[in-house]
Amino acid sequence: MSPEVRQASADQAEFLAALIEAGLLLESGVPGVYGHSDTFEEIRERLAERLSAEASSRGAERLRFPPVLPRRQLESSGYLASFPHLAGSVYSFEGDEADARVQADRAAAHEDWSEFQHPTELTMMPAACYPVYPAIARRGRLPAGGVFVDAGGAWVFRHEPSHDPMRRQIFHQHELVRIAEPDAVLEWRDEWANRGLELLRGFGLAAELDVANDPFFGRRGRMLARNQQAERLKLELLVPIAGPEPTACASFNHHRDHFGSNYGIELSDGSTAHTACLGFGHERIVLGLLRTHGFDPATWPAAVRAELWPDR
Ligand SMILES: [Zn+2]
Repeated sequence: MSPEVRQASADQAEFLAALIEAGLLLESGVPGVYGHSDTFEEIRERLAERLSAEASSRGAERLRFPPVLPRRQLESSGYLASFPHLAGSVYSFEGDEADARVQADRAAAHEDWSEFQHPTELTMMPAACYPVYPAIARRGRLPAGGVFVDAGGAWVFRHEPSHDPMRRQIFHQHELVRIAEPDAVLEWRDEWANRGLELLRGFGLAAELDVANDPFFGRRGRMLARNQQAERLKLELLVPIAGPEPTACASFNHHRDHFGSNYGIELSDGSTAHTACLGFGHERIVLGLLRTHGFDPATWPAAVRAELWPDR
């Protein structure tokens, strides 16, 4: 069964066609999966360096993880209860030589070969902060003041095929994570929401901060979304890029004790840690820059260039 592909608005479709025509995005044949040109990657890498520099100057510890998550960790996270429609699992072949021949023949004819595929112990990475919590839990009780982690611009997967160039199935999410006492975590989240706003405005983007909710699944999900809004657990930085609505380019999430209790993360006094994470969408910010300032970074305003290329 093919998944339903979200259609693009007229200006989103036009923007995507222009990006492909200019060679900035390389088509794969699957909506929401693109390669990047040298120019696109240059901007994205500069953005990643800028975000990591902001974090490390404030004491962040750098951790990096591969773009697959142990299945057990996804199971412990609660992700499948909230976002079953977005998750991706890694399957692999199990069978004998005869099965392998049938599978190869069917695959070559683009027929269904799924009966020979079985779940592995891995899933696609749903959010870049997920591997951070169990890694920190394994260290034992946290030092006083907790920890601040820069998980970098990691590849994450969301199964939501779309012709809107801002909605990717796989993209870089640059996550910063704070694990500490409840007050310190909330203060950090709000401080970074404002820092993120200044940062995007410094790039010349018309960013606005707003209260938001996650795309929870189903009827129960609509209730979760209303609670999340009412309790201001999720803030987003919205930038008009293309389409009827502005695009969320960063989000600032307060999880309270959700991950702390799921993974048994303890503060120095033995109580459960609170957590918050920030995610900056690299590709969306790059698309915002290209849309706002044009496709050639050499012609961008000097003030914007100075933010991303401070050494030139
Ligand atoms: Zn996160």
